[in-house]
Amino acid sequence: FTKNTYQVERGFYNYLQEPHLHYFQKILGDDERVLTNLSDLEKYNVDWYQQVRGSSAVVLKPKTTEEVTKIVEYCNANKLALCTQGGNTGCSAGAVPVFDEIILSTELMNEIIEIDENAGTILCQSGVILEALDRAVSEKGLMVPLDLGSKGSCNIGGNVSTNAGGLRLLRYGNMHGNILGLEVVKANGEVLDCLKLMRKDNSGLHIKNIFVGSEGTLGIITKVALQCVPRPKSQQVAFLGLQSYEKVLSTMRKARQELGEILSAIEVMDAISLEWGQQHNKLTLPIDKYPFYLLLETSGSNEEHDNNKLNSFLESALVQNHVLNGVVTGEPSKVQAIWAIRERLPEGFKNHGWLGLYDLSIPVTQFYNLVDETRAYLKNQVEYVFGFGHLGDGNIHLNVLGKKYNKRLAQDLETFLMKRVLELKGSMSAEHGLGFLKRKYLPMVNSPGSYQLMKELKRILDPNHILNPYKVFP
Ligand code: FAD
Repeated sequence: FTKNTYQVERGFYNYLQEPHLHYFQKILGDDERVLTNLSDLEKYNVDWYQQVRGSSAVVLKPKTTEEVTKIVEYCNANKLALCTQGGNTGCSAGAVPVFDEIILSTELMNEIIEIDENAGTILCQSGVILEALDRAVSEKGLMVPLDLGSKGSCNIGGNVSTNAGGLRLLRYGNMHGNILGLEVVKANGEVLDCLKLMRKDNSGLHIKNIFVGSEGTLGIITKVALQCVPRPKSQQVAFLGLQSYEKVLSTMRKARQELGEILSAIEVMDAISLEWGQQHNKLTLPIDKYPFYLLLETSGSNEEHDNNKLNSFLESALVQNHVLNGVVTGEPSKVQAIWAIRERLPEGFKNHGWLGLYDLSIPVTQFYNLVDETRAYLKNQVEYVFGFGHLGDGNIHLNVLGKKYNKRLAQDLETFLMKRVLELKGSMSAEHGLGFLKRKYLPMVNSPGSYQLMKELKRILDPNHILNPYKVFP
């Protein structure tokens, strides 16, 4: 086939043949690491939200950088397209093949090589699951600064490749700020060693940064060096019910002023998102129903101090009518239960007719106006428009659910959102990357000069265009 259901032309790549498979089997040794059974391939061919399905005939599971090198060198020489996959939790379908690209899964590259508790740094292979990494550093009193709802499945290499944001960006920043070094296999199989463990290094261009957020299109990340933060000794959450978006904003301002240095997350959810999430995830709300909800997290080093601070914040927020109701807890199981309400929201959106996912950065004042405008624009043509997200970072997840995919409506909606986001000088992809589904935005949201430079970099680093074709670059 040359054109698939996504109306994309297959690139001029070679098709997988028996000799190719023999070569991969020779390198990787056994059938466990060269998957060709249809049933084994299924989960690698489709993305987490089940928006895109590829038809790859093979998944390769290297364990070492040397094995990655041999695979990539061979694919480059034989013009075979490759799709790198970490935990396959990406939201823009960047980690699944679009046609028959060979899938290179990093899931067996899961060795934690070194944790330096004095420097607060960690060195590991790129396939380590984020939660496992955090568990490992916690034994040394450290914490991985990144936290995502997908932490039980996503890999650190995927996090680097998408420049993941997440729930604690407000406090610790995104991946760019926390990566100390990378090891990358280039499209020609050469290993690029940018694997320093220093926090400060201004000796020349910051080459490693090119690969952060490059979504598998410029190289395959094989090792990651990361800075960690001291693990907070106390953690509290407040779950609040509010009357309006104005109150959400005034409560956020108050929380920033009064909780200051211990504030580590501010998440917002509208009533309809939460209702939907509750219905599907069967989770109990700690308070009654309200038009808006805020989840605030504090983390620090003195439990009594942090508790007092959060409790007196809530008391005065209630007295001053910023919030209508709220609970505060520092009990680990309750903290977890409250976080689950927010973290598990996306699960409820799977498997339901048409799902439109928009991950927008816009000025926080306009955050919810855009949800209302979208509802007004779509009228009753869809079932639901949900608004929730990382309020503290101005990053809204605007999700649309309809009974059935409607191509014309989806296109109109995209044009509408694009226009509004550009007017607000925002971003069409705050943290999920462009992947396959959003690649057409690349030239629209970047200046001609930046776009040109991106294309030149791609040409230099991957002249045969074997790395993750059909992704990021339109
Ligand atoms: P994958 O999905 O496997 O891959 C993502 C991209 O990176 C693909 O283009 C792939 O080709 C490339 N890639 C993966 N590994 C490598 C590698 N070693 N070398 C080169 N390229 C590679 N994202 C956020 O930013 N913030 C959130 O709060 C957040 N919450 C989420 C909650 C849920 C429930 C889900 C399902 C997703 C969420 N995401 C979030 C999206 C997703 O989890 C992140 O983008 C994550 O960083 C992807 O990691 P992964 O290992 O699953 O990568």
